[in-house]
This record gives sequence, C-alpha cells and structure tokens, in this order.
Amino acid sequence: MNRIGSPHEQYESRFGELSKVLPVLFVLSLVVVLYIVFVFLHGIPLLQLDIPESSRNQAQANAGFWQLVVFHADTLLLMYCFIGCIVVHPGTIPDTPEWQLNQDQSPGAKRLSTVETKHTGERRHCKWCMKYKPDRCHHCRVCNSCILRMDHHCPWIYNCVGYRNHKYFFLLLLYSCIDLHFIVFTMYGTTDHATKTDVPFSFLFLLIFGETLASFLAVLVTVFFLFHIWLMNKAMSTIEFCEKSLKKADYDSSVYNKGCYGNLCEVMGPNPLLWLLPISFPDGSGVQWVDEQTRLASTSSPSATQRRISALATDAAARTSLGFTGGGSKTTVEDIITEAESGAESSQAGRSDAKPSEP
Ligand SMILES: [Zn+2]
Ligand SMILES: [Zn+2]
Repeated sequence: MNRIGSPHEQYESRFGELSKVLPVLFVLSLVVVLYIVFVFLHGIPLLQLDIPESSRNQAQANAGFWQLVVFHADTLLLMYCFIGCIVVHPGTIPDTPEWQLNQDQSPGAKRLSTVETKHTGERRHCKWCMKYKPDRCHHCRVCNSCILRMDHHCPWIYNCVGYRNHKYFFLLLLYSCIDLHFIVFTMYGTTDHATKTDVPFSFLFLLIFGETLASFLAVLVTVFFLFHIWLMNKAMSTIEFCEKSLKKADYDSSVYNKGCYGNLCEVMGPNPLLWLLPISFPDGSGVQWVDEQTRLASTSSPSATQRRISALATDAAARTSLGFTGGGSKTTVEDIITEAESGAESSQAGRSDAKPSEP
C-alpha cells in the first residue's frame, strides 16, 4: 500500500477504492427497495386516489396519510444520519505540539495526563501518524488515521464510528429500528389482504418480499441497537467491550464511567431534550477522558499481555460490525486470547492498530 501524504490526506482520499464503497451502495439499495414497496404498494393505494372522494373508505385514507407522513419524517432523519455517519470525520489527534511524537518533551512542556499507557509507563503513540495517542484513541488501517474514542470501523458507512460521529451512528440505528418495525406492522394488513384477493403476482411478490426483508432487518438492527444502548450505558466502546471480553473483566469496571446520565451525555450531547435529534453533539475535545466524575481504576498500567489483548480487541471490534467477518481470521475469543498470551513478549513493537475486516 502506498502511504503518501499526511493522515488527514489519506483519510480524505478513502473514497478512491470503489470496492469498499459497495457496502454503502448495498445499504442504499435496501432503503430504496423498502421505500418503493412501502410507499407505492402500501401507502399510496391506501389513499384511494383513483376513486372519487365520496366513495373512499375515509378511515383507510386517513391511516394511509398519517402512515406516509410518519414514514417520510423518519426516513428523512434516517438518511440525514446515514450521510452524517459517512461524511463526518470521527475525530483525530490534534496537530498541537503536545501530541507530536518528535517534539521536545521537556519536563516543563505541556502534557495531558492519560490513563492508558504502555507497560513501561510511557505514553502510547501511533507509529503511522507519528503522534502520541490520547486515551480511547486507536489507529484504523482502513481510514489511515487515528480515531478519537474509536468504537469500530463500520464497512456499511465506510467510516469509523468515533467521537464526533457516534451520535449519528446511534441515531441511525434508532431511526432504522423505528422505520423497519413501522413497515412490518403497518404493511402486514396490506400483505395479508393481497394473499387473499386476486392481485397481480408481481404485486403480491413485492409485498411479501418487502415484509420479509423488513422483518429480517428489524430483528438484526434491533439486537445491534440494544447492544449499543448497553455499551453506551456502561461507558464502553465496542473495542473496550472486546478488551474486557478477552480479559474476562467486569463490564462495570470502565474507568470512564460517569454514571448513566453522564455516559449518555458523552455520546448524545449535553441537552437531554435533543438526545433523539441529530443536533447538539458532545462539546468536548475527545482527547481528555478522566476527570473528577470518572472512577479511576487501580490497574492504570497494563501488562504486556494486556497490551496485546488490547491490540487484538481492536481487531475483533473491526469484525463486530453486523456480521462482517474476515475470511480465515481468528473466530473465537479463546483463539485470540491464546495468541495474545503467546505473542505478549513482542507486543510492544507489534500492532496497536485496528486491522480492517475485509468484506
Ligand atoms: Zn495513527
Ligand atoms: Zn476506520
């Protein structure tokens, strides 16, 4: 791979690889198919526009109208968040001197404290970006950039989910859940009626296909969404969840825990009234995570094995994005732990980077 230009330039040029945009196009095609089926085979027929107003079933027409309004409002929000997930940079390490690897680190120089360090006590750094890493920051090899509070790299949005676009991602899941369940429940009557009456086969096929597809996606996205609610409540990113799984650590032990309300504010923004809208984002810097609210854990200097597990957890998190698994890769937690323990001695020079999951 040619590594030219700064990490910023490499990140901005990520759309050059067409094959990696295919999952995004796949998601878009799902949205288009479900939109066409719902609006043109269910919503608009309910309005009965082809018959005189006096002959219409008014209750059905009203239901169709409100269903179309709700569906379009939610779909607009969904698409806004989808675009936000793709185009908003998740945040990277600032260019200020205290993060530069080769800057003079004299005793008087400004240095932000971090919880996460190497086992020697030195600051973590990224060998690709040539910068010191803030807490919760990891390098993503797909984005070619260090990502602030990296959650995971998501191939479906061709972007990392990190500090600055996490709310877009969370709301994308929320609006998708609402839309999918809405389609499943409201379109069931139309589909059921079509199976009992004489309608063209293509009409019946598309309705059943849409209903089945929406049901399948509703289950999948709901499970994923509930997982992310749980993670947010526990003040964990997906990478940190994988780290704790590998170490068999307590999921309540996050050193970044600020309590339920504080943890939600870290992702959804400071104003609870605006949590469910794609406005009002967290106003912090994304580099400082420890303050008087957080509970400092006693194990602030992880061992070499723990560092290795951390690197492999980043790897595992990259594969956690809705079933994207790399071919021939390690598939069980036990495999990953075994490799972590056997490779611990060489871990400090090893990868501390997020390895991409190849579609
Ligand atoms: Zn980096
Ligand atoms: Zn990434």
